[in-house]
Amino acid sequence: MFSKILIANRGEIACRVMATARQMGIATVAVYSEADAQARHVSLADEAILIGPAPARDSYLNSARIIAAAKDVGAEAIHPGYGFLSENAGFAEAVTKAGLAFIGPPAKAIQAMGAKDAAKVLIRKAGVPVVPGYEGEAQDDATLTKAAAKIGYPVLIKAVMGGGGRGMRRVERAEDLSEALASARREAQSAFGDAAVLIEKYLTRPRHIEVQVFADTHGQVVHLYERDCSLQRRHQKVIEEAPAPGLTDATRKRMTDAAIAAAKAIDYVGAGTIEFIAEADNLDNFYFMEMNTRLQVEHPVTEMVTGLDLVEWQLRVAAGEKLPRAQNQIELCGHAIEARICAEDPARDFRPETGPILDWQVPQGPGLRLDAGIVEGSEIGSHYDSLLGKLIASGADRHEAVTRLTAALQATRLAGIASNLDLLARASAHADFRAGRIDTGFIADHAAELLAPTPLDDTAWAILALGEQLHLTTNDPSPWAASDNWRLGGPVPLEWHFEIGGEDHTVLLQTRPDGWLCEAQHLRLISRDEHALTVEIAGAQVTAHLHADGGTRWLQIGADRWRVRALGTFGRPPVRKDLGGARTSVVAAPMPGRIVAVQAALGDAVAPGQIVLRLEAMKMEHNLAADIAGKVAAILVSPGDQVVEGAELLRIDADPMVAT
Ligand code: ADP
Ligand code: ADP
Ligand code: MG
Repeated sequence: MFSKILIANRGEIACRVMATARQMGIATVAVYSEADAQARHVSLADEAILIGPAPARDSYLNSARIIAAAKDVGAEAIHPGYGFLSENAGFAEAVTKAGLAFIGPPAKAIQAMGAKDAAKVLIRKAGVPVVPGYEGEAQDDATLTKAAAKIGYPVLIKAVMGGGGRGMRRVERAEDLSEALASARREAQSAFGDAAVLIEKYLTRPRHIEVQVFADTHGQVVHLYERDCSLQRRHQKVIEEAPAPGLTDATRKRMTDAAIAAAKAIDYVGAGTIEFIAEADNLDNFYFMEMNTRLQVEHPVTEMVTGLDLVEWQLRVAAGEKLPRAQNQIELCGHAIEARICAEDPARDFRPETGPILDWQVPQGPGLRLDAGIVEGSEIGSHYDSLLGKLIASGADRHEAVTRLTAALQATRLAGIASNLDLLARASAHADFRAGRIDTGFIADHAAELLAPTPLDDTAWAILALGEQLHLTTNDPSPWAASDNWRLGGPVPLEWHFEIGGEDHTVLLQTRPDGWLCEAQHLRLISRDEHALTVEIAGAQVTAHLHADGGTRWLQIGADRWRVRALGTFGRPPVRKDLGGARTSVVAAPMPGRIVAVQAALGDAVAPGQIVLRLEAMKMEHNLAADIAGKVAAILVSPGDQVVEGAELLRIDADPMVAT
């Protein structure tokens, strides 16, 4: 076994790999970018090496630098984690050439599965059903149009070199095909450096079910059962579980047999995942989609239902050992479910968010596991993806596992950054989800219920106002730092102004000798510390957690979380109306990133909501739209430009004929 390994990754997965290495007595080496000097994975490692500036291509994707670092410190092997260089055949080869072990499959296997078209051809030959479609070399519109007609609409265009749900377009009608092709090619070229696409039959009510396989260098191949990853947004997984609800033993047998056949067909070694798509109303109709030649984000659910440590298996296989168990020694026991907690705003089309982690408390207990790469005080920047951590729950059966997950998600405290916690908690509590009525459209189909904002009630408003009042009585920036004389508000009621979701709200708070009066409710302080306060209100005790970041307040009461803007006691300054004179609107970068496309030309007439630019940040593309009707007056960037947050990208002169 190795005595020292380097982990070429960051975030929760780097921490996860280190935990097993430590248990096995293997020393760990972290690499980090300038943005990650304070990161959790750096502090957990035995040694850490700075490998470059924040952008991934200058650090976590710099293979030469990473291999040199491993040689320098005397590591014998490199674990790539997932993402970054994990599916880069050139990197795997360079690691081996440098005399180090790559903790992953051979370069040849990565290569064979790297392109979705070639993978489908190869796997079909192995006798595994693949999604019907076109994966030929010819890429001209005429050929693809003919192919799509033959497959039958709806069809799905995929980037041949794609991943992470990018470069995919669903097309309903023949007349929309050529435009969808153009935009899929553009995204594929910019994201993967290759514009080639394939076309598949689009399954309308599918489930994503994948099989975990493992192979060693002694010719043994086993599976570790399946995972259901049907809960997705943007074609990316958010909730995953094992086993797949409603999968019969007979179908499970066919699916795992197919996965093993696929792994054997490419002489696979190490951990791999064969992804299938199945018809939700008849899981027996399943098709190969792609193979991921690495450890998967959702591997913990497999660990919890098999009792095995997948990273340990990866290390043993890479060190040349035999698989620790034969197929008949691998049992499926109970149920496990994982939720990916992401820094993103589901209400704004799942836009990734940046910001500080001011509060981060995740319940612990039987059947609960947290894999996270953040700590309180971490700063989520725009250079990497939005995954903060994963909460995993297990139980004797699905009901127990899901119930535990819901409760833990509800009780999790997170402040300082928008997240998908509410969505995850609501999805896992949803009656249809509980009943196993799931498919990849679940989140979109239930969006109204899953994404509705939680209204603030009188208690929440009163607590917000009280927070401001306590803050006001002290000059300390921390709202709870006031000591004894914090009640000197006087008997005059103070008016506190807030804004949430674009709407203003005013709360009247009057100090009384025994507490406060707020909109006819009586408040009494029971206890408080820096960020928590317990009050008695309308005869009930309520504990709230409150954090401030500039003018933003993060309030959590029980399972309810809000982000509110505090406007002080004077409220919003009156809006000054520019009478006459041209109005100009500026489209600015919401976060630092790279311009991938400019979709308007100088002088073009644009309408509000029309997409004028596309920006890539945090592994995703963001559409930036005009907010007024008018003419494009200036374009200040071109594709490929790196821009900072707030940078002016494009100006629009308002159309004087349209009232805005
Ligand atoms: P999975 O099927 O395991 O979900 P994805 O293709 O969604 O696979 O990617 C795996 C994970 O790898 C992502 O969720 C993300 O956390 C990470 N990742 C991938 N590429 C990058 C990247 N360029 N930068 C940062 N993280 C990345
Ligand atoms: P990626 O490499 O981005 O992970 P995949 O081919 O694995 O791409 O597909 C990602 C997701 O897109 C799937 O989990 C599924 O939800 C959806 N999807 C892929 N192929 C199809 C299809 N033929 N019909 C319907 N949905 C599909
Ligand atoms: Mg996939």
